[in-house]
Amino acid sequence: MKFLNFGRIGRKLLITTSISAIVFFIYVFFSYLEIDHQFSTNARLQIEIDELQNSLHILYVSLLNQESAQSGYHLTKETTFLDSFEKSTEEYNNATDFLIGKLETQPPNIKKSIEDVIKKGQSWHEEYGAPLITMTKNGEQPTVELYKESKASFDDFRQSLHEAEIVAATLRDTYRNTYKDKISEARNTLFIISILLIILNVLIINRQTKSIIQPVLLLNNSVKAYTRKDFTVGIPPYKREDELAELIRNINTMRIELHEKFSSMESLVDLDGHTGIYNRRYFDQTLELEWANARYYSKVISLILFDIDYFKNYNDTFGHLEGDKCLKNISRQLCELYGDSSDIVARFGGEEFAIILPDQSEEVALTKAETLRKMILDLKILHPTSEVNKFVTISVGVATMTPSNGNRRSTHLISLADQALYHAKENGRNQVTQYSDITTDNSPGLKQKIVQ
Ligand code: GH3
Ligand code: MG
Ligand code: MG
Repeated sequence: MKFLNFGRIGRKLLITTSISAIVFFIYVFFSYLEIDHQFSTNARLQIEIDELQNSLHILYVSLLNQESAQSGYHLTKETTFLDSFEKSTEEYNNATDFLIGKLETQPPNIKKSIEDVIKKGQSWHEEYGAPLITMTKNGEQPTVELYKESKASFDDFRQSLHEAEIVAATLRDTYRNTYKDKISEARNTLFIISILLIILNVLIINRQTKSIIQPVLLLNNSVKAYTRKDFTVGIPPYKREDELAELIRNINTMRIELHEKFSSMESLVDLDGHTGIYNRRYFDQTLELEWANARYYSKVISLILFDIDYFKNYNDTFGHLEGDKCLKNISRQLCELYGDSSDIVARFGGEEFAIILPDQSEEVALTKAETLRKMILDLKILHPTSEVNKFVTISVGVATMTPSNGNRRSTHLISLADQALYHAKENGRNQVTQYSDITTDNSPGLKQKIVQ
């Protein structure tokens, strides 16, 4: 179904919300049933009390009618009073039957009170009402004593009826209060349960949202780091198996691929496309760093610059492509010679190369330069048009400085090495010249060493 197309995350949220809504609805429904039940129970009990009170009233009225009919008959001997007595007796009996039927389900106190009323009414009827009628019929004159007893019996009946009415009224109040209490209890419980369900709901949704939002925020930080090319920041941990897990996995794959691509790009940026050794850009950066380092630790730094002798002639003789091969060959040899050391070999430009020698004295630098010169010569690359040798040779300039002496910049070292190289060229090529600002024999200033 299209409207349920929220993915696993959305479906989970939807199911949780739906379950809590259903639980809430069920609870409200049962609360409604409870309140409805209390309402109808109360209504039924109130009707029952009404019926009891009505019947008690009928009992009273019918017994009163019996009494006045009996008196009327005694005084007038009119048979209409006899009819009235009979009718009232019947009404009394009907009311009694009705009450007896109702009393089965009534609480003991009201049951007892009403039974007492019925008994006393019945007793007046049987002991005084009916006998007095019979006596009158028979022309007998009842004694005053009998009348007094009759009145006492009737008062007794009236008293018990009065008490029964009080019990009924009390019972009505009890029913009403019980109803009120139950309704109030149901309302309070509904309120508390609603609040608890809302809190529970908020906690569940908060937990679920947190479990999604937190990894998303962490993922956002990771992606931000990747845009800064910081691929060391890992992906956030996420245990569930849903769309977010898939997204995190995909971003991780992208991170690894990007990292690899950037790493290879970065290293390519530093390399000379033709010879494969470090390019001038990298050389400049590294020299700057090493220079700053040497200044900070008051150490020396040396630089070797060398240039192939009569390389234009080489190109002219063998062609540019062969010239390229020669440059590559020399670069390869440089890598072999310096591959394991901390020296940095770079193509300085054209057929010129540079080697940075951090923390290396002028003696060491000179020895390395000479070794290098010999190594190139020993390659025995034929160079028939060179004016100094039948093989390819190089002229080398070496410079050594202590950056902390004075306020000079790294370009001074290049300039010094370049001057030394120029001197080597001028002096006949295929040789090493060294310039240094290191003072010896207590005599400050430039020092020149020429190795033939
Ligand atoms: P010297 O340095 O001994 O004074 O003479 P040179 O002939 O080497 O000096 P010059 O500066 O006159 O010529 C440098 C030559 O190097 C010219 C240029 O064609 C050649 N060259 C520079 N870069 C490359 C390159 O990448 N490949 C080839 N094949 N030749 C190059
Ligand atoms: Mg040159
Ligand atoms: Mg040259």
